[in-house]
Amino acid sequence: MLLGEKTKAIEISQLIKRGELTVKEVVDFFLKRIKEIDTKVNAFITILDEEKIYDQVKIVQEKINLGESYSRLAGIPIAIKDNIVTKGIKTTCASKILYNFIPPYDATVITRIKQAGLIIVGKTNLDEFAMGSSTENSAFFPTKNPWDISRVPGGSSGGSATAVASWQVPLALGSDTGGSIRQPASFCGIVGLCPTYGRVSRFGLVAFASSLDRIGPMTIFTEDCAELLNIIAGYDPKDSTCSPAPKEDYLAYVTEMFSKLSYGDKNLPKKIGIPREFFTDDVDKRIKELILKKVNELSKSFPFDVQEVSLPTAKYSIPIYYIIAPAEASSNLSRYDGVKYGFSDFHSSIWDLYTKTRGHGFGDEVKRRIFIGTFVLSSGYYDAYYLKAQKAITLLKREFDQVFKKVDFIVCPVAPELPFRLGEKAGDPIKMYLSDILTVPSSLAGLPAISVPIGFISDDGKELPVGIQIIGKPFCEGDILTLAKCFEEISNCASKTPKL
Ligand code: GLN
Repeated sequence: MLLGEKTKAIEISQLIKRGELTVKEVVDFFLKRIKEIDTKVNAFITILDEEKIYDQVKIVQEKINLGESYSRLAGIPIAIKDNIVTKGIKTTCASKILYNFIPPYDATVITRIKQAGLIIVGKTNLDEFAMGSSTENSAFFPTKNPWDISRVPGGSSGGSATAVASWQVPLALGSDTGGSIRQPASFCGIVGLCPTYGRVSRFGLVAFASSLDRIGPMTIFTEDCAELLNIIAGYDPKDSTCSPAPKEDYLAYVTEMFSKLSYGDKNLPKKIGIPREFFTDDVDKRIKELILKKVNELSKSFPFDVQEVSLPTAKYSIPIYYIIAPAEASSNLSRYDGVKYGFSDFHSSIWDLYTKTRGHGFGDEVKRRIFIGTFVLSSGYYDAYYLKAQKAITLLKREFDQVFKKVDFIVCPVAPELPFRLGEKAGDPIKMYLSDILTVPSSLAGLPAISVPIGFISDDGKELPVGIQIIGKPFCEGDILTLAKCFEEISNCASKTPKL
């Protein structure tokens, strides 16, 4: 097998299991790529010492040799967004305030990944504390889009998206509060799934906006995404918001449903809603056209019905999100005081310690969110902003409920624009916030949503990837993964690799 071509991770793992490849051969290949490529795109904040990587390789290979069942992704390298805590491995959140923080424990998703026999190779760059849409808010360096290094990879999981898209690793984990898995997945041409709120434990995910934060898989292929979800999803007593709802075998589900759909089985979820409010003039015409063309192609190849639907409150999602998320962030970030974690500035008094540590430790965007959050929660303004935003979320959820009585899926663009240039929006926070307009509605409603690549649009001489967004009913990850697989089949662009 030629690992040089993008290959399904579940197939690579099969070859390892059959003894046709060793874990070391696979890891050697990807480490070599990281060494060759990452200096050009800067996806990683930390690449683990080879010793730490090969210790994992040894353990996993020995267990595979003993016939231990593990998972369908055993032996596969994975990159982890640097806001998910990893025992003994620096976890910075791309912030100066945590630049030397080494967690004493693993996030639940990390424990599960280790149990499943995956090999953690590094921690990926992000916007500081996951606040941003371009990975330019990292305190260390920006990550570059592998399809055009003068452009952003999206954010905040831009490091994970770039690492996967440039085939430095076949799998990564990201986090999504308002679009941070889906938008970089779209900008980099990979699959990114934001699961239902509560489907995956948040224990060990550094909190940004706790009522919205989710961890999800980022992969080249939808089947790998399904299997990685199998590994990380499920009840965790350490996270009180984690759902006890039983999980299915997502990979088995997708495989079965996809074959039934290919035979034209009519009894499956098959109604697609196209929300009017997601196709306004603010969305690049070329993206809208490509989305509608693919939906049309899909309905010719598979038994899906398409109808228009409406979510009138979705147009208020940006103001709602940018009240709720900073409000929660301002509270969550109060723990960084110079005493408990990481960076601590020289000081003459306790007050001096707090102000200097936070003043020098946080970047501009994080400070902006703390200001906004503190303001909207302050007495006298709480009712006018925070409470009102909560009420608006209830309205939005009701609208989604109504739409999901009529259709099984909502299909729309992921982002209103193609990957933009580094620096293009850096000085204009409102412009940056507006790039989240199509991802925040489902975030506020807690619904699962995926971005899957459907093609490329040529811009200024560069071929840039475009993803389609599928939003599903709560806990229907299997269904959106199945529809994503259908789009993957008709688009046939997963295996393209950017030239770097
Ligand atoms: N871009 C959004 C923000 O800046 C979403 C970030 C995220 O999902 N973590 O808040």
